[in-house]
Amino acid sequence: MRTAARFHMVLIPAGALADSDLRRLDESAPWWAAGFTIPERRVCAIRMAMAGRYPYGSLESVLAHEATHMLIHLDMVSGVLTVTINNHE
Ligand SMILES: [Zn+2]
Repeated sequence: MRTAARFHMVLIPAGALADSDLRRLDESAPWWAAGFTIPERRVCAIRMAMAGRYPYGSLESVLAHEATHMLIHLDMVSGVLTVTINNHE
């Protein structure tokens, strides 16, 4: 039997980031990545402004791609996906 684990899918909005945690997360990955996964922190992130670019084409496909990285890392068949939406103030 497998144990479900939680991880977070963070949506990074376009433009300047007021939230310092979000800014640090954004700076932790190469500029060209539409999405990235940090398995040891149980965090996936999607740069919303980049999500529509090749090769993904949509936010949903980046989400599926990054979630797959995490699920493979966690060796999970099923997981609890918590989507954290950061409102840009
Ligand atoms: Zn990938």
